[in-house]
Amino acid sequence: MTAFAYRDGVLHAEGVSLAHLADEVGTPLYVYAAGAIEASYDAYARGLADAGLRALVAYGVKANDNLAVIATLARRGAGADVVSGGEIARAIAAGIVPGRIIYSGVGKTPAEIVQALDAGIRQFNVESAAEIDTIARIAGDHGVTAPVALRVNPDVDAGTHHKIATGRKGDKFGVDMVDAPALYARMAADRRLAPRGLALHIGSQILSLAPFRAAFGALAGLARTLRAEGLPVATLDFGGGLGVAYRDDAEAPSRADYGRVIAEAIGDLLVDVAIEPGRSIVAMAGVLVTRIVATKESHGTRFVVVDAAMNDLLRPAMYDAYHGIRPVVRPRTEDESLVDVVGPICESSDVFARARPMPPVAARHVLVIDAAGAYGRVMASCYNARPLIPEVMVRGDRAEIIRRRPTFEESIALEAMPPWLAPASTQGAA
Ligand SMILES: *Cc1c(COP(=O)(O)O)cnc(C)c1O
Repeated sequence: MTAFAYRDGVLHAEGVSLAHLADEVGTPLYVYAAGAIEASYDAYARGLADAGLRALVAYGVKANDNLAVIATLARRGAGADVVSGGEIARAIAAGIVPGRIIYSGVGKTPAEIVQALDAGIRQFNVESAAEIDTIARIAGDHGVTAPVALRVNPDVDAGTHHKIATGRKGDKFGVDMVDAPALYARMAADRRLAPRGLALHIGSQILSLAPFRAAFGALAGLARTLRAEGLPVATLDFGGGLGVAYRDDAEAPSRADYGRVIAEAIGDLLVDVAIEPGRSIVAMAGVLVTRIVATKESHGTRFVVVDAAMNDLLRPAMYDAYHGIRPVVRPRTEDESLVDVVGPICESSDVFARARPMPPVAARHVLVIDAAGAYGRVMASCYNARPLIPEVMVRGDRAEIIRRRPTFEESIALEAMPPWLAPASTQGAA
């Protein structure tokens, strides 16, 4: 059952008409289905439990950091994987228990480390020898012990887009496997640190279990080595989740199989397990609703110009990503022609789809860009002075605005004129 389906010829999010939302809220807008977010989280929790694992599902907040989205997952018992002080603040504001927050990232600043220690997070996933020293020093200064896990780079090519592969030799993330035992021993010898275990994250949008199997096996092997040396390894963090099927002909592995791959890697090791899925929890639970501004034809190409743009949904421009696009009102004909769906921004990369089969459409019609719940609004910018677009959450027949569109005045309000540009009348005559 998908959360977005035609009912009486009109595309709905759960029980709410997207045509109605487009009129009421104004386009472009993001719409998220709460039920789909919950079902996706539950499928992970069940997949791990069925594989016999005691596991924390720490939602990868960067995929969609809207407070209502995080809170929906917090209610389910989710933890959070965060990569910045801003995400720590959001996760806590949305009701994530600090003891379930994992802090990842290669560039944690001293201020962010202090913030995380004060909040009492579950663990820092440490990415380098230098960071071990920084966290130890700051924890020592504050008279606390910092819980740390060592993020290793298993040198596995996840076979995903090069901009989102993170576990190959030469990627900036984690420490090399060969260096891990010495670094782990160093953490264990430092009284300001409490080593909790190991972590990895090999990349995003991975649709095959093979790279996970290779990386997870390597991580469990390292845990055995460390334990044999008498070092404490209580937890293994297996990183981000599965990819999603953006294309109709693609298929993502099941959560049950993913759980089994972890269970097989661990074998008889008694450890707590954490995973950090982001994309797979929210991608399919969200759509971008946009209205056609104009259609035009040029040199044999038919363009459909919409009111959403690359600043609202960057994935096509940034990763050549594919998103399904369909009219909100079901077409009455099977006829289709090839069109380019483009935004209004003055950049050649402001294109959502090229040569895409589309039923007859015209200005004022509303289109829905599918699978936009992850890495959508969070990557949006205000380029071209376009305010961030509103977000709506639907639950059954109810729809609520969970982030409103700022006014132009609000968008301008953070800026200030230097005195030499202030109007002459306020400068005082000399
Ligand atoms: C981005 C990221 C995640 C989430 O990855 P998804 O592919 O969205 O599941 C998890 N952990 C870390 C460290 C990340 O950087």
